[in-house]
Amino acid sequence: MRASQFFIATQKEAPSDAELISHKLMVRAGLIKKLGSGLYSWMPLGLRVLRKVENIVRDEMNKAGALELLMPAVQPKELWEETGRWAVFGPQMLKIRDRHERDFCFGPTHEEVITDIARKEISSYKQLPLNFYQIQTKFRDEIRPRFGVMRAREFLMKDAYSFHTSADCLVNTYNTMHTAYSNVFTRLGLKFRAVRADSGAIGGDGSQEFHVLADSGEDALAYCEQSEYAANVEMAEAIATGSRAAATETMHEVDTPKQTSCEDVAKLLEIPVSKTVKSVALMVDDVFTLALLRGDHQLNEIKFGKIEGVQNFRLATEEEIRGNLGCPPGFIGPVGVSGQVRVIADKTVALMSDFVCGANKPKFHLASVNFGRDLAEPSVVADIRNVVEGDASPDGKGTLSLCRGIEVGHIFQLGTKYSEAMQATYLDENGQSQVMQMGCYGIGVSRIVGAAIEQGNDDKGIIFPRNMAPFDVVICPIGLDKSEAVKQAAEDIYRQLQQAGVDVLLDDRVERPGVMFAESDLMGIPHRLVIGDRGLAEGKVEYKGRTDAEAQNLQATDCVTFLR
Ligand code: ATP
Ligand code: MG
Ligand code: MG
Ligand code: MG
Repeated sequence: MRASQFFIATQKEAPSDAELISHKLMVRAGLIKKLGSGLYSWMPLGLRVLRKVENIVRDEMNKAGALELLMPAVQPKELWEETGRWAVFGPQMLKIRDRHERDFCFGPTHEEVITDIARKEISSYKQLPLNFYQIQTKFRDEIRPRFGVMRAREFLMKDAYSFHTSADCLVNTYNTMHTAYSNVFTRLGLKFRAVRADSGAIGGDGSQEFHVLADSGEDALAYCEQSEYAANVEMAEAIATGSRAAATETMHEVDTPKQTSCEDVAKLLEIPVSKTVKSVALMVDDVFTLALLRGDHQLNEIKFGKIEGVQNFRLATEEEIRGNLGCPPGFIGPVGVSGQVRVIADKTVALMSDFVCGANKPKFHLASVNFGRDLAEPSVVADIRNVVEGDASPDGKGTLSLCRGIEVGHIFQLGTKYSEAMQATYLDENGQSQVMQMGCYGIGVSRIVGAAIEQGNDDKGIIFPRNMAPFDVVICPIGLDKSEAVKQAAEDIYRQLQQAGVDVLLDDRVERPGVMFAESDLMGIPHRLVIGDRGLAEGKVEYKGRTDAEAQNLQATDCVTFLR
């Protein structure tokens, strides 16, 4: 590519809404342009990066035996009613209505659509297993779109869905996908970690997330150096209880800093709060319910203001709260609450950090955990706590370390959650009808670009791993308009590199060297060749790697071999 024919649109200023370095640099380097909240155009330079990520993902999916297809972004309401998710997915789902007054959503995920395909197209065990994937645009109406493409509303996801005759077969494919994901992130040159995770709105039994490690990551991860144990802290805290927490998707987040007081929470919810108030529990059915518990165990009717995105409150009974929390009488007892408030879909639950259960244990941390099953004793819950560095690892094999991560991939063993609800069945060897086992596997393709930049940057700009850089090499000729020798050498090397399959940018704009260098550094191009008369007189060109402290001289004739 010749810079004179390309669109380079770097800018000096970062946008004022950009909090993270990756967001600032993506805009400054001209990779993306904002259209509206959580909506971004990928400019030619950025699209080159996105496509490189996409192609590596595609390649690894193909190698793992998955089959690419492409499903519609717009999905009919009726499908989502079959699984019950039309009602519970919550305000993240963008609902739309056509001219015939029919309801649709812009797909936030595709379990329903693919299960519909499977039930219609798969009839015999002989056709299974199958693993389909697509790389496709999703829309989720995130409550607070931020961090540029990392938490956008419209974003590119690779989502795969597998179908099986048995749970063993599902586990096989799940493991294959685990390996494929590791290959993807290794090839992309990212530091990453796979951790046990909650299953979110997608549901199912087992799931793992892949995180790009970065201090700015939204998730806290706990891992054990002495063993394989690694978990999202949300999950670590849930499984510390011995309960299999299946936390469900956040339908509404009230963004408060952690460790706020009970009074703060009440203020945030615009509810009157007296000193005796000890707990706020938000419940979700179809209808959201807000209940306030007092220290004296009594449920207190309260008036409350409107929480954005949450309507139709109804007061829950204490029974309901206990039932939905799966806790025995007494558990909700004198409960002091503070911290993050989250409303969660599916059965229920709330919230929050730092509450006191009974008189015995002062410090629990229960964050977005939905107990699907009974908690036999209140004391079981006593193990839920703030995980801190040095805590014993739940597998008993060592101690926990903490780090932060950006979720770039998530794999799930769904089991029969969708196939049962939608009657995706096949005939087995004996002609018996059986429900299919399912898995699903997501990668945030567009989020990866931002995550990579969180990991790779310096004061000059982006440091892309070579496999995702918009160009492998930039050629900066000095005095192109004045020296025939420079022009000739630049053109020769440009052609040779192209022939060798190197993705090369020839900066033929006749800019000052300082401008060329600053721009290619900002854009994160990993290799730079500078061609000038002085070097050429000795048959040399100057080479500098993006992170090298010093440039070095190369024989002009060696550059292609060097850079291949
Ligand atoms: P998060 O916890 O960050 O909200 P999620 O758990 O809701 O993500 P999944 O349903 O697991 O997301 O979707 C699969 C992948 O899609 C995620 O691992 C993530 O990489 C990506 N993704 C999810 N939401 C967004 C978003 N708003 N913008 C960009 N990528 C996203
Ligand atoms: Mg989400
Ligand atoms: Mg998540
Ligand atoms: Mg997830």
